[in-house]
Amino acid sequence: MSRAYNFCAGPATLPEAVLNQAREEMLDWRGTGMSVMEMSHRSDEFVQIAETAERDFRELAGVSDDYAVLFMQGGASSQFATIPLNLLPEGGSADYVNTGIWSKKAIAEAKRYGDVNVAASAETSGFSEIPDQASWQTRADAAYLHYTPNETIGGLEYDFIPDSGSVPLVADMSSTILSRPMDFSKFGLVYAGAQKNIGPSGLVVVAIRKDLLGKARSNTPTMMNYQVIADNGSMYNTPATYSWYLAGLVFQWLKAQGGVTAMAAVNERKAKKLYGFIDGNDFYANPIKPRFRSWMNVPFTLADESLNGEFLKGADARGLLNLKGHRSVGGMRASIYNAMPEAGVDALIDYMTEFAKERG
Ligand code: PMP
Repeated sequence: MSRAYNFCAGPATLPEAVLNQAREEMLDWRGTGMSVMEMSHRSDEFVQIAETAERDFRELAGVSDDYAVLFMQGGASSQFATIPLNLLPEGGSADYVNTGIWSKKAIAEAKRYGDVNVAASAETSGFSEIPDQASWQTRADAAYLHYTPNETIGGLEYDFIPDSGSVPLVADMSSTILSRPMDFSKFGLVYAGAQKNIGPSGLVVVAIRKDLLGKARSNTPTMMNYQVIADNGSMYNTPATYSWYLAGLVFQWLKAQGGVTAMAAVNERKAKKLYGFIDGNDFYANPIKPRFRSWMNVPFTLADESLNGEFLKGADARGLLNLKGHRSVGGMRASIYNAMPEAGVDALIDYMTEFAKERG
């Protein structure tokens, strides 16, 4: 059986080498006579797996000891509530930037906990560009400034890290984490659902500056209290052990590829190739201002939308899967995360070329 090229936005394709290693280790992890899935999370073996994964993540992402790294559950969406519960005091306010569907969801959830100021919105440009930071209406007394560096659905990505002054900067890095180097010291809190560049869904990796711990509201559920999770090494309850292990395998794979600097070079090349092709062909279009085009999620439309079904059917037949755009926007979307090989992008471009020639 040959593997397809899976362009799904998440759960997304994983490195084949990682899947092979997981298969080899499935029944007997290094002579323990059991799968990682069956191990006690308190065992020396699992603690070693967990600590290695955290160390590798810190090394890859450049996260210093000033931050706690947490392996939590409930996906990135649960963080939409966890963040205000921990960082937004009763009666306080927080700033959010609206750049698309994921930031809107974060805003809607935060509004349940306090005064949320939408400091800027990409709505006026039809979500085709990031509003210039000079126009943002931020507040100096905000508890934090939240933004979404990469909008997975819209394919809109910041090409800068906002300057939040002394206000802690909070970033939903679900679909961009580990895709390129980032200056982590600029952030108060970063979170990322795992199912794109890290591993299986459900797991969410959080890095929080230690001075922001211990501020949770008294009614914060224990499992959502960063201080509790940090104090217990992300093992206050039974963590998502197998997902954590797989994340660790992905981190090792990333290190073997040369880390995020090497990944960034490949990711930029893959994205430039695909956008270059789209721009050079009248049959396809992408609506995002070039500067803010996502390296990870490439939405595109066909000149004749009535051919969408046929396009997808032909793609499926070639093993180019999950190219259908999000139900809210239609069209197509190719997600080309770290684990998507360049050959997958080449195969997609070959197919798009042929389809446009035949049907365009
Ligand atoms: N934020 C972003 C930017 C996302 O892309 C996603 C998932 N696609 C989420 C949040 C929600 O993640 P989860 O499904 O893990 O809750």
